[in-house]
Amino acid sequence: FSKFKEGLAKTRDSFMDKVGAVFNRRRIDEEFYEELEEQLIMADVGVTTVMTLMEELRAEVKRRKIEDATDLKPILQEKLVELMGTEMAALNLNPTGMTVIMIVGVNGVGKTTTIGKLAHRLKSEGKKVVLAAGDTFRAGAIEQLEVWGQRVGVDVIKHQQGSDPAAVVYDGVQAAKSRKADVLIVDTAGRLHNKTNLMDELNKVYRVLKREIPDAPHEVLLVLDATTGQNALQQAKIFGEATGVTGLVLTKLDGTAKGGIVIAIRDQMEIPVKFVGLGEKVDDLAEFDPKQFVEAIFT
Ligand code: GDP
Repeated sequence: FSKFKEGLAKTRDSFMDKVGAVFNRRRIDEEFYEELEEQLIMADVGVTTVMTLMEELRAEVKRRKIEDATDLKPILQEKLVELMGTEMAALNLNPTGMTVIMIVGVNGVGKTTTIGKLAHRLKSEGKKVVLAAGDTFRAGAIEQLEVWGQRVGVDVIKHQQGSDPAAVVYDGVQAAKSRKADVLIVDTAGRLHNKTNLMDELNKVYRVLKREIPDAPHEVLLVLDATTGQNALQQAKIFGEATGVTGLVLTKLDGTAKGGIVIAIRDQMEIPVKFVGLGEKVDDLAEFDPKQFVEAIFT
């Protein structure tokens, strides 16, 4: 928990200093509601989610006959937990054979870093991990994945830059099978221009995985950069519709005060947040616990 809290320091500051300050020793009136609304939106909680929250807070104030804003603060915390749900979403591992995890997301969000961290985490649980370098488009993507492979000590299956990603992925599956890997993690391209093409490519990779292993991929993790705030939510919606995403990873939460975006994403997306990135190092990937998240930004 302390690591989680440390990583969220910037978001906590924005919540405690700005949102928290609105509650200090005052009566609840329209001006109070307006200020609170404004600060929650500034913290990137997102307009739709803020509106829901405000309605619920007003109802609670009425129901419990609260007059002092200080008494409302713990109720906001309660409501946030309610909104986000308390259950944690674990990584879906295949109990009977190899687990295949496909990683998707736009360039620069932290996809490669997340793959490295995830490989490290699974390896330290005693699993044999193989990576497939499916981003054959971006210059340097294959080499960067190899650097991570060496760093954490797992094999990387690759072809040359510009080659067919579906072919790399096919080879990745065969290699992972013959090396008796427990987990195959598949990197994919993330170029933003030419979106249709990208979605076609991701779907092709998806189909290759499914053809080779009927219940694969067991996870499609969409990586999102928390520092982009509402943009991350937009990307979640676009990718979520197109590629059968099963879980989200929110990176760079350590570098942003916009952590409120996690609340908006939990509120507005059916897809669960499974991991958060809290730094650039190999250990800086944490399972996402919504209750701890709210606690970390409030206390
Ligand atoms: P990709 O293009 O999506 O593969 O992105 P990269 O994995 O290359 O990451 C882009 C940059 O973000 C790199 O400088 C990473 O070190 C950095 N990065 C990735 N995840 C995190 C994180 O959780 N926290 C911080 N502070 N930086 C991160």
